[in-house]
Amino acid sequence: DPIIEVENLTMRFRSKRSETVALDDVSLTVRAGEFVTIAGPSGCGKSTLLKLVAGLTPGFEGKVHLYGAPVTRPQRDIGFAFQRSALLEWRGVRKNILLQAEMRGMDRRLAQRRADHLIELTGLTGFEKALPHELSGGMQQRVALCRALLHEPRVLLMDEPFGALDALTREQMNVEMNRIWRETGTTVVLVTHSVPEAVYLGSRIVVMSPRPGRIVETLEPGLPDERD
Ligand code: ADP
Ligand code: ADP
Repeated sequence: DPIIEVENLTMRFRSKRSETVALDDVSLTVRAGEFVTIAGPSGCGKSTLLKLVAGLTPGFEGKVHLYGAPVTRPQRDIGFAFQRSALLEWRGVRKNILLQAEMRGMDRRLAQRRADHLIELTGLTGFEKALPHELSGGMQQRVALCRALLHEPRVLLMDEPFGALDALTREQMNVEMNRIWRETGTTVVLVTHSVPEAVYLGSRIVVMSPRPGRIVETLEPGLPDERD
């Protein structure tokens, strides 16, 4: 039951003077319930790969399938969280989370029930009405995470979601993210330049290298190494 199928994917960005091969012949399959982390230095094509899967970047060569169908336009049945996910400054925590429901025309009572569950799950209880500037960075990222999960997407794509946080908060968010993944069963693909973060979170770790962007290694921790 593959959720994401990427085969022989190449993405070139052309300008008048030059061509950048952001992704060169990349293949990757993500199955339901996996937590795939993609690690690698800046410029290795991590963000480009996520955006292609989300249908946000046209013009690639190769195969990109989501839920068994080719990705040809922005996908609705995904959740997306970025390094700095924009919260509406004038809206409280709960209303920021419910923004997702408004954009998608979700049933209001279902959305409210689900928002309250996510608020509890991420330890935001008591902060429902707090405004973003009244929250710590970690709490703001948890609000963004709740919003990305509100419509119960089958896959959650995260691009350096904790990159703007200090080291300690980042570690706390990793522990929390791991718990949320276990409790919700969501399929997650998370991009990070931090190898320790990738190793801590991933049920599978994909390592990329730049110029051109390629997958150089795939690691599955916890599986016995046959060479030993
Ligand atoms: P990463 O997320 O690993 O830092 P990116 O996917 O952002 O890498 O970028 C991969 C390469 O593609 C980089 O060389 C980057 O400059 C280039 N690139 C990304 N997006 C564009 C774009 N819209 N136009 C031109 N070049 C781009
Ligand atoms: P986080 O918990 O988001 O990783 P902190 O270490 O700053 O980041 O916050 C620890 C705890 O302190 C939070 O879970 C929350 O209970 C409380 N807290 C943080 N910021 C505020 C705030 N602005 N107002 C009230 N309580 C806060």
